[in-house]
Amino acid sequence: PRRVVVVGAGMAGVQTAVALREQGFTGTVTLIGAEPHQPYDRPPLSKAVLLGKAESSAFDVDFETLGIDLRLGCEALAVRTGARVLDTSAGPVPYDTLVLATGAEPIRLPGAEGVPGVHLLRTLDDAERLRPVLAEQRDVVVVGAGWIGAEFATAAREAGCAVTVVEAADRPLAGALPAEVAAPMAAWYADSGAELRTGVRVERVEPGAVVLDDGSRLAAGAVVVGIGARPATDWLAGSGIELGAHGDVLADDRLRTSAPDVYAVGDCASFPSRRYGQRLLIHHWDNALQGPRTVAANVVGQVPAAYDPVPYFWSEQFGRFVQYAGHHAGADTTLWRGDPSGAAWTVCWLREGRLVALLAVGRPRDLAQGRRLIESGTPMDPDRLADPARPLKAA
Ligand code: FAD
Repeated sequence: PRRVVVVGAGMAGVQTAVALREQGFTGTVTLIGAEPHQPYDRPPLSKAVLLGKAESSAFDVDFETLGIDLRLGCEALAVRTGARVLDTSAGPVPYDTLVLATGAEPIRLPGAEGVPGVHLLRTLDDAERLRPVLAEQRDVVVVGAGWIGAEFATAAREAGCAVTVVEAADRPLAGALPAEVAAPMAAWYADSGAELRTGVRVERVEPGAVVLDDGSRLAAGAVVVGIGARPATDWLAGSGIELGAHGDVLADDRLRTSAPDVYAVGDCASFPSRRYGQRLLIHHWDNALQGPRTVAANVVGQVPAAYDPVPYFWSEQFGRFVQYAGHHAGADTTLWRGDPSGAAWTVCWLREGRLVALLAVGRPRDLAQGRRLIESGTPMDPDRLADPARPLKAA
């Protein structure tokens, strides 16, 4: 009877434990999580949970029935790969197979630490601390116009808060999307009544105010920092498990790490994508759902196909449903379906005549069809693709 220990009880860790049982693993499964709460899903934290429309987003998983030994409020501190022991705040835990699923942690704003009224949005505790900010309709300053910043601004506007979003780049989502695609999204902020200030940096945060590098001073009943996240892997320093430049655990195409019988999955790990010819570090939900099946297959002794998904994620912002599939770096052509100033449109990226990525705003059917076309690598007819009245099809 073998012992699998999974570290991190978020989406990736929970799905790994569940997939092990689904794939017939009969050994011991121990799931260790630092947070005290019953494992929960994160996307609702910036949506329904924040607005108080949902009390919780706990996963609907019966750990006991599945024979999963869930240890909450327990933090992994170090791994001794030679001895196959995980050291935790509750003592050493021996393993035969270890799965790293510690996710990511938000990047903090330098100088803002410890200033009252400054928030991050990653955990259930964060969301619970932010609920009264919305309920009391405080003026909020959001630092960063990325996915989290946009979703928080959306919820705060819905709650009736005055919202100013400060972004150092010249547009929203600068790290994620090319300028011409992100540009139309800037108008969404104004449409919702939020003020977006681009090209300015936060100089300092004081209790009740944010001072910008252009000299302006914004009153802030609360400050929400959404400037990115980084793999939660500091605790692996000295373990000998290889990390990449972003602190990502370097997994191979079967999600194995550099240490024997140690796997990594979800937001904490990167993997080489053959499809896109580069290593991918993905901080999205679907990757934390798909990766665990590959890990479990390894553990039960199969040789799984290379983990090389078409990445997918969605975002709900300013009344729009935004979906993205694929990876557009390396595309040679950008095609629009529909008018980006309108309510629904899609951008397609091609390389050598084949679809490699698409972004759909309010066009879920484009997304579903496009995702399959990316998957299959079918050659596309650009004229047909650019006609939003015709379904996304190859010929
Ligand atoms: P996590 O969810 O971060 O879970 C890791 C867990 O490991 C955490 O509970 C952490 O406490 C624990 N842990 C860390 N270190 C240790 C340690 N040393 N010992 C023990 N436990 C440890 N994605 C989308 O595609 N669409 C969305 O709309 C969307 N919305 C989001 C909204 C919010 C507010 C956030 C924060 C994320 C959102 N995401 C969204 C991203 C998605 O939630 C993540 O990609 C997903 O949660 C990753 O799962 P994970 O299990 O890898 O990591």
